[in-house]
Amino acid sequence: MSSLTPEPQPHTNQPMLLMAAQYSHHPIFVLDLRHHLVQANQAFASLCCVAPETLIGRPLSDFLNGPRLSALLGNVESWRSAYAQGFTEDMRVHSVAQPECWVRVSVSPVWDHDGRLNNLVAVLAEVTEERQLRRLERDVLEALNSKLSFAALGDVLCHQIESITPGVLVSLNRVIDGRLWPWAAPSFDPAYGSGFAGAPIGEGKATCGTSAYRGVPVMTENIHTDPSWAAYRHLALPPGCQACWSYPVKLRDGAVAGTFAFYFQKGGKPDAKLERVAQTSVHLCSLAIEREENQQRLNRLVQFDTLTGLPNRQALYRYIDDLLSQPPPGGVAFFYLSIDRFKDINNSLGHAAGDQTLVEISNRLSALQREGLFLARPEANLIVLVAPACSVHRAVQLAQQMQQMIKAPVEVAGFSLDLTLSIGVSHCSDADGHRDTLLQNAKSAMDQIKANGGAAYLFFSDGMNQLARERLLLGTALRRAIPNALRLVYQPQLRLDNARLYGVEALARWHDPQFGQVSPDRFITLAEEIGEVEAIGHWALREACQQMHAWREQGLCVPVVSVNLSPLSFRSRHLPGFVAGLLHEFNLQPQNLTIEITESAALALTADMQDVVQAIHRLGVGLSIDDFGTGYSSLSNLATLPVTEVKIDRSFIDQCLVQERLKALVLTVIGIGKNLHLAVVAEGVETAEQCALLVRYQCPVAQGYWLSHPLEAHDLAAWLNQSQTRFSAESLGRLAAS
Ligand code: C2E
Ligand code: CA
Ligand code: CA
Repeated sequence: MSSLTPEPQPHTNQPMLLMAAQYSHHPIFVLDLRHHLVQANQAFASLCCVAPETLIGRPLSDFLNGPRLSALLGNVESWRSAYAQGFTEDMRVHSVAQPECWVRVSVSPVWDHDGRLNNLVAVLAEVTEERQLRRLERDVLEALNSKLSFAALGDVLCHQIESITPGVLVSLNRVIDGRLWPWAAPSFDPAYGSGFAGAPIGEGKATCGTSAYRGVPVMTENIHTDPSWAAYRHLALPPGCQACWSYPVKLRDGAVAGTFAFYFQKGGKPDAKLERVAQTSVHLCSLAIEREENQQRLNRLVQFDTLTGLPNRQALYRYIDDLLSQPPPGGVAFFYLSIDRFKDINNSLGHAAGDQTLVEISNRLSALQREGLFLARPEANLIVLVAPACSVHRAVQLAQQMQQMIKAPVEVAGFSLDLTLSIGVSHCSDADGHRDTLLQNAKSAMDQIKANGGAAYLFFSDGMNQLARERLLLGTALRRAIPNALRLVYQPQLRLDNARLYGVEALARWHDPQFGQVSPDRFITLAEEIGEVEAIGHWALREACQQMHAWREQGLCVPVVSVNLSPLSFRSRHLPGFVAGLLHEFNLQPQNLTIEITESAALALTADMQDVVQAIHRLGVGLSIDDFGTGYSSLSNLATLPVTEVKIDRSFIDQCLVQERLKALVLTVIGIGKNLHLAVVAEGVETAEQCALLVRYQCPVAQGYWLSHPLEAHDLAAWLNQSQTRFSAESLGRLAAS
């Protein structure tokens, strides 16, 4: 009998059984004890790629081999002991037709009446695909248990699936709030995913958008002609992508949370194998998405307060530690906020009403987050705000702003509540700030203000409160003072070669009825902080030009007036036009005006600010570098600026008689000035000795108390008169010689 041909047998079922064996799609064969084939069915012949007749009588190893198979069949003794009932095992084999495949081999021994082993009957089932799927599952489950990120997990999934589905590319998307977001598509150009990121799902929204919307698999046989792809065809699909088959990925509750898609490079439909791969993959995708969602939920729980959605204590600590490791310029302010009489709300209206109040307040304050401030809820009814790069003055403004933000009544449980906050503030201006101390300080300030009735803010230390209050009041007073309460005084500058007036420097003065005389060093810094310094610059320029005009009318010849400007003034592109307008209005020549800017400020000018400086220079107005020597620059550093004058800082003149090194430095600056045709003004000349030295060094110009204190405009004429008798070329010459 060459094959399992049915032959009449005593038992009626026998022919049918034989027929079933003959036509089974599982390869079946019978071996003798030498492992020669006795019988084999059509499927086995196909597996071996030969006609069934040619198999019989030949050793199995001529057609089918595998190390495990040989070992098992070879050990006849084991049949009696271990495998009396036969065995089933998956093993790797290779046949003539198939270089390697996994098969499930079931072998049954056939014993005769005397208990002797006669034959072995084997049934094979191909399990390659099943094994691939199982390996896919195993690998992806392993990845799910690892620390791989969600994105990397998606890439692993795609790669693993693509490795068992040659010619097919895989892409994964998330579906969040009805929109598609690329998750993983490692074989695609990144531009592909970003091209539809955020696209709404729906009918006609390409294959994935449609399948996510319908909640069932969708097949697009030709991407290039399918109308649902009209809006997406231009995207960077890999070359040759023809067809797409997309499956919705559903979570346990049935919600569509993603899509899984096959792209076919050759066009075509998924076969049964791909269908099975897809089923397994969709399941794995949903596990991955669930893991991600759980992770996110956990992260939110770990970092955010569930009631208000604000960062919790841990997140607050982390933020502050990061911030203080590199403190921003201007310092950091910490605010502890508590809602006044919150206990009463809880007690009288219930805790739900209390919660609602907290949510409403935190919602209102959350507008501050958009300004780069950090809001957190570290404790039950407390909110903390951290403001980086925040001066004390700004902290005061913020505290007031927050009071304003909660001023409108809060509607809770049918009641309209007018709420107030107790705000405690601490501030650190340098790297020494310690998180716990700063928070504790803000909190104790808050406790203190609460004990005093609340509805106010308080800075931690008395000193700080004083400072904050003073700055606030001073800032308000200064705003009011511009321009009416400010005035300019003028300090003469004397030419040392001929004892004539070189020019005057205009210096601002402010007398406030409450604060008295405030020094310009103080109010100019404050003006910079509260954004008023440009206004002061404009005012000083106009005032000085007007005064020059007035002196001319009186017949007083003042060659030039120098006006100090803060570098912030150069932010305005209108400044050159403004200066030109003043020159015109007061009938002045451009060389009658010089603008002073300190050396350190000059070094910090941005390109745009330098453009403004250049434009002023083009008008013919002078540019003087003030406090020269304190900014550690060299003149070559300032080469990009159109400098016409250098003012040697007071500290050098002060010390040049006692320190030889400074004497040399002064001499050098005078020399360089001469070579570069710059005017050199020595500032802070307080004694005859200093002046004598400068004359000897041929310093062109001197300014200082020994010559004159800054003068009221109307006193200049008298001073000029006096100075003609006091200073002359000869007297200065004699002074130098003495
Ligand atoms: P600065 O531009 O270096 O002005 C010179 C300062 O030195 C003036 O102080 C002046 O009164 C003082 N001074 C003059 N001669 C002597 C002296 O012989 N010995 C000593 N010890 N001091 C002398 P002031 O008026 O208090 O101004 C201080 C600073 O305030 C100025 O320094 C300038 O940087 C700024 N400032 C003054 N007015 C203005 C203004 O209108 N705008 C701007 N942006 N800054 C101004
Ligand atoms: Ca100056
Ligand atoms: Ca100066």
